[in-house]
Amino acid sequence: MKRFANFSRTVSATPVRWQSITDPSQLSGIFARAANEGHTVRTLGAGHSFTPLVQTSGVLLDLDGFHGIEEVDALTHEVTFRAGTRLWQIPSLLKPYNLALANMGDIDQQSIAGAIATSTHGTGLAFTGFSGTVTGLRITLADGTQMRTSPTENAETFQAARVSLGALGVITHVRMRCVPDYTLHTAERVEGIDEISKNFIDLSKATDHLEFFWFSGTRKALVKANTRLPAGSSLDAPGKVSRWINDELLSNGALQAICSLGAFRPQLVPGLNRLATAMLSDREYTDQWNRVFTSPRRVRFTEMEYALPLENFDVAFTELRAYLEKARVPVVFPIEVRTAAADDTWLGTASGRESVYLAVHRYVRDVVPEYFPEVERILRRNGGRPHWGKEHSLGASQLSTLYPRFADFQAVRSTVDPQGLFLNEHLRHLLVEEV
Ligand SMILES: Cc1cc2nc3c(=O)[nH]c(=O)nc-3n(C[C@H](O)[C@H](O)[C@H](O)COP(=O)(O)OP(=O)(O)OC[C@H]3O[C@@H](n4cnc5c(N)ncnc54)[C@H](O)[C@@H]3O)c2cc1C
Repeated sequence: MKRFANFSRTVSATPVRWQSITDPSQLSGIFARAANEGHTVRTLGAGHSFTPLVQTSGVLLDLDGFHGIEEVDALTHEVTFRAGTRLWQIPSLLKPYNLALANMGDIDQQSIAGAIATSTHGTGLAFTGFSGTVTGLRITLADGTQMRTSPTENAETFQAARVSLGALGVITHVRMRCVPDYTLHTAERVEGIDEISKNFIDLSKATDHLEFFWFSGTRKALVKANTRLPAGSSLDAPGKVSRWINDELLSNGALQAICSLGAFRPQLVPGLNRLATAMLSDREYTDQWNRVFTSPRRVRFTEMEYALPLENFDVAFTELRAYLEKARVPVVFPIEVRTAAADDTWLGTASGRESVYLAVHRYVRDVVPEYFPEVERILRRNGGRPHWGKEHSLGASQLSTLYPRFADFQAVRSTVDPQGLFLNEHLRHLLVEEV
């Protein structure tokens, strides 16, 4: 039987059936059979969530065979993608229409439906996460109905489905607002952590896409500032060798070696963090948008990320830094800090508020049981909401206090899926009750 494992291989499952979907008309029969046999149904994107969102011993659906563009509105720049489309496929799909995605996160492996399901985001205060750009969804519900949703058609289901963890049904089509094609200039600089952490929010307001990475226990951070330029601007992309050195050697090969050594000898971690920081260097280049936003990630890690109101950043980062410096947590991976514009989704992590995201990572072999819980305590007391696809410990009662529309989401969910066909234990914990 085919076995599922997520990116970090911290979640795995052996579903009773693994079904590949190439046409949404297959779904109603699959749902009816699963319900008859007493199985639940989970939908897989690319398996890049760190939490057991798609874990199931029931039926696992895979929409990899259902990809591509269904429709383009040249006037509004809205594009309807089939739900299994991977983000890496999108740039070449949009190229003939001179369109692009408004923003992207760190990688391009996710499916479009998987990315919106967990409120995946990039960085930039003028840009929402993916779900904020969604203008229509087609979803197949537990009773087999193929429902069209938008702000004006089945509006409640639309609002709930924009960030819905696969708990409402199977999203088959995603309509998103795209933007005219563009180029990105990136400037990566090594700066003092005191300086960048003090100025990060102000600089974010003046920069299209700003983020920084900081290895704890060191005094330097890598600051990445991306500026949008018109399509057709001259490119000076790093050559293949330079890209390989930065992406493969520094972010993957060398990082892997450092992480392995740190896991084997935790007492070396402070020195390894200083070594990793010393390997960082300034660079600038201009390239196609997707090649600047994303890079390959091959080291297996797991992650926790919280979205905080912008105004809480200073206190939260100071507390986080004080904890890391005091506890000397033996972890090599950097802390990553980003921002996003507020959006109007019900369960988006930046719903209703401009947000700053603080993310901590852990190499999968690092044994640091206190690290994520302690960081979580700091980020929660500063108004944080956990990323739905990354590690956290919250359940429905705590989450309901973080989202004004949480009860509305629950009401839509229990209306469209009263029998819980799409729930697993993790989703019950998040959305229905504490288990
Ligand atoms: C290396 C790495 C880098 C990352 N970088 C970022 C980043 O920069 N920014 C960020 O915000 N997050 C990031 N993430 C997290 C990631 O974007 C999310 O967890 C995302 O949801 C994963 O998408 P996926 O396609 O792999 O979906 P999966 O993890 O497979 O599934 C996620 C959810 O989507 C649901 N789903 C999938 N397809 C459908 C469908 N057709 N209909 C209904 N529900 C569906 C699933 O049921 C599940 O609940 C990163 C993760 C990794 C491993």
